[in-house]
This record gives sequence, C-alpha cells and structure tokens, in this order.
Amino acid sequence: MSGDGRRADYEERLQAFTGRQLRPRTPGQDPVNQPMIRHWAEAMGDTNPVYTDAGAARATGRRGVVAPASMVQAWTMRGYAATASPPGGEDGFGALVALLDEGGYTSVVATDSEFTFLRELVPGDHIAVSESVESISAEKRTGLGPGRFVTTVKTYTDGDGETVATQRWRTLRFCPPKAEEAPAPPPALRPRPAVNRDNAFFFEGAEHHRLLIQRCADCSLPRHPPGPCCPACGSPEWDTVEAGGRGEVYSFVVNHHPKHPAFDTPYLVAVVALAEGTRLITNLTGVAPEDVTIGMPVVLDWLDADPDLTLPVFRPAPTEAP
Ligand SMILES: [Zn+2]
Repeated sequence: MSGDGRRADYEERLQAFTGRQLRPRTPGQDPVNQPMIRHWAEAMGDTNPVYTDAGAARATGRRGVVAPASMVQAWTMRGYAATASPPGGEDGFGALVALLDEGGYTSVVATDSEFTFLRELVPGDHIAVSESVESISAEKRTGLGPGRFVTTVKTYTDGDGETVATQRWRTLRFCPPKAEEAPAPPPALRPRPAVNRDNAFFFEGAEHHRLLIQRCADCSLPRHPPGPCCPACGSPEWDTVEAGGRGEVYSFVVNHHPKHPAFDTPYLVAVVALAEGTRLITNLTGVAPEDVTIGMPVVLDWLDADPDLTLPVFRPAPTEAP
C-alpha cells in the first residue's frame, strides 16, 4: 500500500469511531448521598445551604437538599482501585486510544468541558454514564505539535434512564516533539559549597589541585573543617599546610537517596583520615560500594566538577608490589 493509501486507510479507520459508543451505560458506585455532597461543598468552599440544610433548601421551594450540579461527574467516577478497562463488554475507549497511538498521537491534553444540566440531583438518585464519540477532527497544527481534537459526549442518566446532564468533552491528542528536537536541558551542577572567610582558602587551593589543611600558627595543631580559632590553644592565628594526599577510609556510606541530578546513584560518601591527622568528608571514586572497607588506604584525586567547582576526592591506593 502506498503512503497515500495508508493515510486514507488510517483516516477511514479513525472516522469509523464517529458516533460509536466508547463506554456502555455504567452505573456509579454509590447513589447521590449527603456525606459526599458535604465533603464536596467543604472542599470547594461552597457555603450555599441548599446542599446541606434541608430547611434552607425547602425555603427555596425545593423538596430537600440537592447536589451541586458540577458534582455530576463525581457520582460516576470509578474508584482508584477500579481496573483500567470497564468490566464486561468491548473496551471502545481502549481501541480508540490504541488507534490514536498508532498514528503517533500519543500525548493528550484536555481542552474543553461543556455541561448541560437538565435537573437537580437529590440524595437517592443513582446516576449512570455512557460515552460516545461525537467527532474526530482532521490533523491540525497546534502549538503542542500536530494533533487531532477528539470530542465525546457523556450522557448522565438517572435510575429511570432519564437524561439528567450531558457533557461535551474535548481533548487534543497530539504527536509530542521528538527528543532530539526538544532543547537539551542544562547540565545539572553539583550543589555549591558555602564558602566563607574561614574556608575560602580550602576551595581556592582546590582550584589549583592543592589540598590545604588549616594549622594553628601558635601550637601547630592541624584542624579541619576550618574555623576561626584553634580548639586546643584558642589562638586566632593560623596558616596552612598542603596535604600529601594519602589517607585511609575512616567511615563511609553508600548514598541512594535523596536523588540529585548531578549525582549518579548510588555513590560513596566517606570520612577519610589523612596522614596529616585531620579527617575530611569526601567522595570515593574508582571503587564499587561492595569493595570499600574501613581502613582501606586511599589516595587523593581531583574532581573538576564544572568550570567553577573543583573538589578533592579519593580513590583506592595502588597496591604496592610485594
Ligand atoms: Zn593552637
């Protein structure tokens, strides 16, 4: 079959759905009832007393409370636990969706909902709904991509089969842009460290692939993380010493959550005890989580995460020849 022939055949199969019933008359799970009306009115912030107060409703000439008109859909909604296709009978809706999928119209957005209410519903009414296709448009160019407007009509009936409301329901079924046409998302960056006057030297050193440790200028005690004064002698004077880059795993965790787009999970977060005597929270690289052990010798490596961020990481120390 030629391309034109295939297109004509597809159009014919699609248009065969016009007028077809997608859903046979399906009763709602519960009759119209006061508790659901009350919950709805509360959720919507609708304080009209004709929905909840029989006396107030009678004062308006009604025989008792009535349900808000816009609840009509709620009476026929299937619960969360309901199966995807209606029990028994032909799944016309599924067949139409499958045919639209075949044409590439895999995405959907609702565009219009137009109700006509014929009478007010009262507690005890048992509402059912059926749905038929009114029209399927020719392919249109839309802002979302090429698509077709599918209009169905839902007919709501009471226990006697009398129509109480209709709903003209229009959706746009469209072909989403292909992945390569969509703009590439910006690369996810690692979270920025909180740099302050105490620790700025550490990140400036890292830019030059130098791992600097703060050291008390009076008693020579090294310390990390950086701080304004020595925990041993209280001196505010300090300088730095460059670490040799050798250490061992003091502790570690295998991180699965929370997910962050800059990190491939799982990843390893470790406390590394440096040969100089301080400890550093860092990432382990070049090793599988199951191969990490406490006390494992590690060596410094550098992660140039992005043009504005360089961080020290550690990898297993090469095993020495016996
Ligand atoms: Zn000191």
